[in-house]
Amino acid sequence: MESQYEPWLVMLSIAIAVFASFVAFNLISRVAVARSRRIAACWLAGSALCMGTGIWAMHFIGMLALKLPMPVAYGLGMTLLSLLIAIGVSGYSLHILNRASNRPSQLLVSGTVMAGGIIAMHYVGMATLTFNPAITYDPLLVLVSILIAAAASTGALSINQRVRSARLAASLRLKLLGALIMGLSIAGMHYTGMAAAHIPAGAVCITEGGVLNAWWLAWAVGGIAFLLLATSFHLSMVDSYLAARSSQHTLELEKVNADLERNAAELLQANSQLRQEIEERIRSEQKVAYLAYHDTLTSLPNRRMLSSHLLHAVNQAQRHGKTLALLLIDLDRFKTINDTMGHEAGDQLLLEVATRIRHCLRESDIIARLGGDEFVVLLEDVDTPAAIAVVAEKILAVARWPFVIDKQEFYVTASIGVSLFPRDGQNEQALLRCADIAMYKAKDDGKNAFRFYCNELNEHAIEKLALETYLRTAIERQEISMHYQPKVGLPSGRIVGVEALMRWTHPKLGIVPPSRFIPLAEETRLIHQLGRWAIEESCRQAVAWREQGHGELNVAVNLSVSQFGDEGLHRDIAAILHSTGMDPTRLELEITESMFMDRFEESLKTIQRLKEAGVRIAVDDFGTGFSSLSTLKNLPIDTLKIDGAFVRGLPADAKDAGITRAIVAMGKTLNVTVVAEAVETEAQRDFLQAASCDQVQGYYYSKPVTAAQLSDMLAAPSFA
Ligand code: C2E
Ligand code: CA
Ligand code: CA
Repeated sequence: MESQYEPWLVMLSIAIAVFASFVAFNLISRVAVARSRRIAACWLAGSALCMGTGIWAMHFIGMLALKLPMPVAYGLGMTLLSLLIAIGVSGYSLHILNRASNRPSQLLVSGTVMAGGIIAMHYVGMATLTFNPAITYDPLLVLVSILIAAAASTGALSINQRVRSARLAASLRLKLLGALIMGLSIAGMHYTGMAAAHIPAGAVCITEGGVLNAWWLAWAVGGIAFLLLATSFHLSMVDSYLAARSSQHTLELEKVNADLERNAAELLQANSQLRQEIEERIRSEQKVAYLAYHDTLTSLPNRRMLSSHLLHAVNQAQRHGKTLALLLIDLDRFKTINDTMGHEAGDQLLLEVATRIRHCLRESDIIARLGGDEFVVLLEDVDTPAAIAVVAEKILAVARWPFVIDKQEFYVTASIGVSLFPRDGQNEQALLRCADIAMYKAKDDGKNAFRFYCNELNEHAIEKLALETYLRTAIERQEISMHYQPKVGLPSGRIVGVEALMRWTHPKLGIVPPSRFIPLAEETRLIHQLGRWAIEESCRQAVAWREQGHGELNVAVNLSVSQFGDEGLHRDIAAILHSTGMDPTRLELEITESMFMDRFEESLKTIQRLKEAGVRIAVDDFGTGFSSLSTLKNLPIDTLKIDGAFVRGLPADAKDAGITRAIVAMGKTLNVTVVAEAVETEAQRDFLQAASCDQVQGYYYSKPVTAAQLSDMLAAPSFA
């Protein structure tokens, strides 16, 4: 039977296939940009629905376009089944195609599935028509229809695959092209498939069960397809519009963001610039502050800084009852050098002076430059004028050293005025004024000298300073010697021992008594050297007397306060005993009451250590201090020496007599040797002998004499 087609229906069927493909491709392109998996699934389902419905609608409209001589009816069940097949297969095919990776195998599977779907849909659709006799098929054309479906749908899908990476306009063109090929593929397959079908002439349609006649089918298919496609198309368009808008927003947001970032960077830069400026300002303010308080040439504190230091120091000294010393130093020949050599040389000299003065001071002392050639030194917590004099003398000495400027030697001297707080003034002005007056006094007295503002101190200090300077070299020059005063046993009248007493014979000053130089040695700490020498010399002498056959003599050596307080005293003594070969039990160390009264516990320890070394301990000048009986009882002492003050009044003064008797009695009780000193008369000796005093010493027997004189005495018969 010749098949004839209604042309406008053929056109419509093709148009529907193309339009459905376009809508489906449009929808599937939304999957990639969907905001969630659920939305993506919706887009896939919609796409499948459109594609499936399109294929299905194309098929039935194509069937309607075929003019058949007999009336036809379609099986309802098979019609619906064919619709489901078309939708399902389209969905699966599009799903495969739409996976993230773009492998060719994926495209091939997708194309094959789609082609299979179209073919299956077509032949199931054909099965909705049942004829008698049955429809026959031309196998060659069936094959051609299959090939058309496979090739065209694979091609169409491959085009659609590129849509994803294309820009908007290009993507629309690609979608249209893909849709056109897809539509033609569906239609091509259908009409080739129809050409393969042969309805025998005179065949009758015998479709049974629920049937649809052609008129209803046409309306149903057209209506459903149109509604669905139109809705889907509209939806996809709205969505793509929204997506475009949101991407526009994203772009705008990105731009705003970039602007913000740029602003932030600018802000950061401005910030760091600001910080730099602030730091610079702080630095320059610090510099200004530094310059305000420091001398530009020497970098020493200036007058302003000195004022604030002095204010603070005065407050502190007031609170703690301490003494401050202000030394005003003025160079003597500076003006001449400045005028003849120029300012640069003058500056160099001042710098050098500043450095030299600084080296004479302790870290805590303050040195300032008042201007010109005037410097001020502030000494805090000075305990004696001698200590201040030492510093002043040091400064004078360094100023006298030659200065070398431009390879030329210069000599300058300094004059120093000293004022003391609180003695000379209570504030900065008063102290500076006094120091100034004192400085001019030093200049008037011939320069290169220091003067205290207070005259009395001057004499004292100058004398002391001179003595100290001499004392330092006295030992080296062998001006110091030991004299020995015999101690006589009662009633035997035999010399049982000696007290070693230090003597200083100065070439100009003559004999300087220990009462003058021992306190000075204490102040300047020269006493340690002197004291150690005294013990060593006495031990050496005692050993010499023994070797000369004068028998064993006790030698008593006096200890000074700071010697007694020296931690290493017992070690020094042990070393001396060892080096001289002195018998420790023959060495007696004399200490006064005041030495152990102050810090009893420590003193006890010292005495115990000395006792461990084997030496004897005597309490000197006993009775003048205030040691109690219980103190004495607890001390491991060997000898009590009754002070000369009590002996002087003997025997007439009843009080002295009473005290002397009491001391002797106490000594007996404590089981110590009692010695009376400064015994000058026979009557005194007799009284002491009657009172059972163990030993006596004094001018009555002998003054302190040289070692040689004492040797002679030892050789002579006893004093008895
Ligand atoms: P001191 O320990 O009380 O010494 C006794 C002092 O009395 C000695 O004075 C001595 O010459 C003096 N003297 C002796 N017999 C008589 C006398 O009959 N009449 C009078 N009026 N005086 C007499 P000196 O030698 O001038 O010593 C004075 C003080 O110097 C000593 O007092 C002692 O404390 C200290 N001294 C002497 N030599 C040393 C020493 O080597 N080291 C230490 N640390 N101090 C010493
Ligand atoms: Ca003594
Ligand atoms: Ca004494």
